[in-house]
Amino acid sequence: MVTRSRVLVLGLDSLSPSILTSRFRSHLPRITRQVERGALGTLKSCDPPITIPAWAVMFTGMDAGSLGLYGFRNRRSGTYFENVTPTPAGLPYPAVWDVASRVGRRVCVVGVPPGYPPPAVNGVYVSCLLTPPGARDFVSPVSLVDEVEQVTGGYQFDVLFRTEERAAVARELMEMTRKRWTLARHLWKKEPWDLFIVHEIGTDRLHHAFWKYFDPAHPRHDPNPQFANVGDLYYDLLDQEVGALLDLVGDDVTVLIVSDHGTQAMEGCFCINEWLRSKGWLTLKEPCPAGTPLERANVDWSRTKAWGAGGYYARIHLNLRGREPEGIVDPSEAPEVLDRLAAELEDVRGPNGHLLGVELARPSEIYDEVRGLPPDLIVYFADLKWRSAGTLGHSSLFLDENDTGPDDAVHSWDGILAAAGPNLKAKGAISTSRIRDVGPTILRLMGIPPPLTMRGQVISGLLGRHHHEER
Ligand SMILES: [Zn+2]
Repeated sequence: MVTRSRVLVLGLDSLSPSILTSRFRSHLPRITRQVERGALGTLKSCDPPITIPAWAVMFTGMDAGSLGLYGFRNRRSGTYFENVTPTPAGLPYPAVWDVASRVGRRVCVVGVPPGYPPPAVNGVYVSCLLTPPGARDFVSPVSLVDEVEQVTGGYQFDVLFRTEERAAVARELMEMTRKRWTLARHLWKKEPWDLFIVHEIGTDRLHHAFWKYFDPAHPRHDPNPQFANVGDLYYDLLDQEVGALLDLVGDDVTVLIVSDHGTQAMEGCFCINEWLRSKGWLTLKEPCPAGTPLERANVDWSRTKAWGAGGYYARIHLNLRGREPEGIVDPSEAPEVLDRLAAELEDVRGPNGHLLGVELARPSEIYDEVRGLPPDLIVYFADLKWRSAGTLGHSSLFLDENDTGPDDAVHSWDGILAAAGPNLKAKGAISTSRIRDVGPTILRLMGIPPPLTMRGQVISGLLGRHHHEER
């Protein structure tokens, strides 16, 4: 027997398991009640554990290399810098809403990135945080744009969070989240959707902008009373908003609550390009002021073998002859050059003189396929507690503060997967699942066979015995 359930997915960006168990539990009564109805486990993020690749991995069931997504932006061949923003149309594999649409199911997606321009689905797709300011084509079908604007009083995709104007950030966060869930409830009531997905970016922005105020263990903890309770207030609001949607959801619907990665306090930044320069891998024609982005530094590419990009992890690229505009590393020597660079990186020491804890991965070794222009080395510092700073001109290899604007939090590997519904056998704690297994699991819950190309596996521990048929 193949079961066929309606599925609701609530995507709460950057939600660590600890948010549900300790820190904000008392501010999340409605969400906690939903979680306790079913199974709860850790959802391990992907390489790299970055928002846009991670959501795409979750809903396509493919790894980030197969999707060609290595970060918030990606490199285009023939350039040194990351300047391509991912789009749904650029994904080489279908997402669950594409698969469901093809077999005639009705789907509604709000905010899942990459979501702009919104793809045509058998239903509604409201675009995501990548929507350019002023865009008027952020809903598919576009005829619904006015309705969305009317229902929400002007829809809001994201907030600018790397700013010292934190009081304004707090206000905008609340307003954005209220609008998102007002819209979600409005769309939910329109028809009995087969698949309904909402993504909330506010949780991630809250953590980035306010983590140091509510985490006493943060290395730069600031007990400023003006911001000490922003987290409590935000989670109170989120719980009410999500709860009001859950109140509309019948027992016939399977509800998943998922996050793309977790959050932790940022220890500091490691200046990857400053380090490459100090080791002779990267050469500047002239010194530059502190905080200069690589794009604006006067790099002597004829004497540069490798450069890096900043972010929650470092992407190291070799300046390869035939691939980069002014490449100097011969492709036949690249493996040996990379080995040497990797060995030097593994020896990096933190400000306290101890090994920083560098974890390296090579795209060709960790991905099923390698599309687009991946970094030659993926580098994680101290289990993600240290961020990678790509800017140059610093007098130290280590910064206390983020180099691209105020930010107190970094990502962590563990997100959550909570699931409850009529056909789920699992209750209580379940073992860790992989983020790419969520997509095929959603399809199986809907009674749709996952495409044969989909590499993720149905999370069989969640489902009843009749779900175990061969794929
Ligand atoms: Zn995220």
